[in-house]
Amino acid sequence: MRWIEPVEETAAKQRARAAKLRPSRLEWVMRFALAGVLCLCCVSMAGAQQTSPPSVTVPPSSTVPPPSTPVPTVPVGSGASSGTAAQTMAPAPVQPRAPAARFLVLLDPAHGGTDSGAMLGTAGPEKSYTLALAMRLRAMLSEQGIRFVFTRDADVALDNDARAETANRTHASACILLHATSSGNGVHLFTSSLAAVAQADPRRAFLPWQTAQAAYGTQSLRLESDFDAALTRRQIPVLVSRTSLMPMDSMACPAVAIEVAPLDANTPLTDAGYQQKILESLDEALIAWRGEWRLQP
Ligand SMILES: [Zn+2]
Repeated sequence: MRWIEPVEETAAKQRARAAKLRPSRLEWVMRFALAGVLCLCCVSMAGAQQTSPPSVTVPPSSTVPPPSTPVPTVPVGSGASSGTAAQTMAPAPVQPRAPAARFLVLLDPAHGGTDSGAMLGTAGPEKSYTLALAMRLRAMLSEQGIRFVFTRDADVALDNDARAETANRTHASACILLHATSSGNGVHLFTSSLAAVAQADPRRAFLPWQTAQAAYGTQSLRLESDFDAALTRRQIPVLVSRTSLMPMDSMACPAVAIEVAPLDANTPLTDAGYQQKILESLDEALIAWRGEWRLQP
């Protein structure tokens, strides 16, 4: 899937359209009144703990399709934030923000601390493999001026909310969740299975914490297609799928979970050449995404 660029308008056309869309004073009053009604409705929906402005787009949970393929062999994070308890203590909605002016990539090496993730044979625990991969990716892309933020850069446990909070606080331009497995072949790419919610500009919208990713569904698929293309060019088998995965579903950014598997029976996760190909693919894809991201309105 490739991004279809918006049709350019002439300055005269833009002025004419802006004048046409500019509301009268009466319309402004009506809009503020309507906004007040919406906010009150959402406050009551979201619960009494909420202190910040609530969301206005809450897709019903019944619209969320079941996960097609489970990503990790071990749940992400310590598990402290999963389940019913986490839902009743759900954080406030993601705050609206002005469009980010700089390109920033969030790397989320899965697991950590007491949560080792899968045991990958000679590649060690998944938590160490994903962290090492993230560090190498940062070293490679930093040379090209790309800035990174990590959810963790050490062997520490993090729950899902903490990971999503880092993504949403830093207004990341791309969120990459790294996993590894000894099952299957090649690289598995996952985007959220949440039904996409159309947002003219999700960066300026209040988004529900549990389903913030729904507003970025289309962008996440574009980002995924860049990874898919770069990996495929290097003859790395790619499995593309969608799943319900925390913290990805709470991330307000274009997000893709990348799970690395052995290339084949003779090329394990520890193979240096294979690792280099993966890193080059991620590098190429993120450079491509930076160009696409800058074209967004
Ligand atoms: Zn994992």
